[in-house]
Amino acid sequence: MPAQRIADLLRTAATRIGGETPRLDAEVLLAHHLGCTRGDLLLHPDRAVDGESFQALVDRRAAGEPIAHITGRREFWSLDLAVTPDVLIPRPDSETLIEVALRLCAQPPARILDLGTGSGALLLAALHEYPAATGLGIDASPAALAVATENARRTGLAQRAQFQSGNWGEGLAERFDLILCNPPYIAEDEPLSPEVRAHEPATALFAGADGLDDYRRILPQLPGLLAPGGLAVLEIGWQQGRAVSALAAEQGFLAEVHPDLAGRDRCVSLRLSCGGTE
Ligand code: GLN
Repeated sequence: MPAQRIADLLRTAATRIGGETPRLDAEVLLAHHLGCTRGDLLLHPDRAVDGESFQALVDRRAAGEPIAHITGRREFWSLDLAVTPDVLIPRPDSETLIEVALRLCAQPPARILDLGTGSGALLLAALHEYPAATGLGIDASPAALAVATENARRTGLAQRAQFQSGNWGEGLAERFDLILCNPPYIAEDEPLSPEVRAHEPATALFAGADGLDDYRRILPQLPGLLAPGGLAVLEIGWQQGRAVSALAAEQGFLAEVHPDLAGRDRCVSLRLSCGGTE
């Protein structure tokens, strides 16, 4: 195949990719392929490049594979994270949890726990914001722990991040000032984009008939894991604010529901209602 203009490659790739964001997808893939930025592509539309091996990436995207699996990375809270099919792809919506933690922590937390850390996104973003803190990320999946460990290394946070295998907070003998958690919360029969269903780990997505199974496991553990005055922030499905707040109240928590940028409920913040609250 002869060299082709960047502008032409992008146009044909976008047509082949289709879906919701074909042009953006084509740009991200070509920038990844050429090892440059999207800005570089747009500045040099007439540059001729060898597009042959690029077609394989376009084919994968056209077949529905997530961009993050093709490039092997995704940005979260400005951190460049490695992503594999073993972890949930970090979503911009989950940055809401970090914003809420930053807003509600009266003083910087010294010790941070991330339950179900996956790629490590939440823990690493929090450690990035709190330079004096150290943190622990728990996951049941050894493959996910390997991704999180690699992400701690590549974000320069390995000194302050530790990862270990576990079943949520079971067996932890320590207390934390800030607990973050993005558990699975999709109900088994809930409609879900075929791309997510086919490519992302079911264990990170589904949580029983009503999507609440893992909150029922996690919430009873939290009073024993939170330091006095500590804060927990849990991601929720947009219709789960009431149900999760009620489950949290059973454990003695005061719950507050927070929306994401789209205005949909995205997380609950929890503080123990007796002792330790401001
Ligand atoms: N927000 C994800 C989605 O809807 C689900 C993440 C989760 O279950 N924790 O694809």
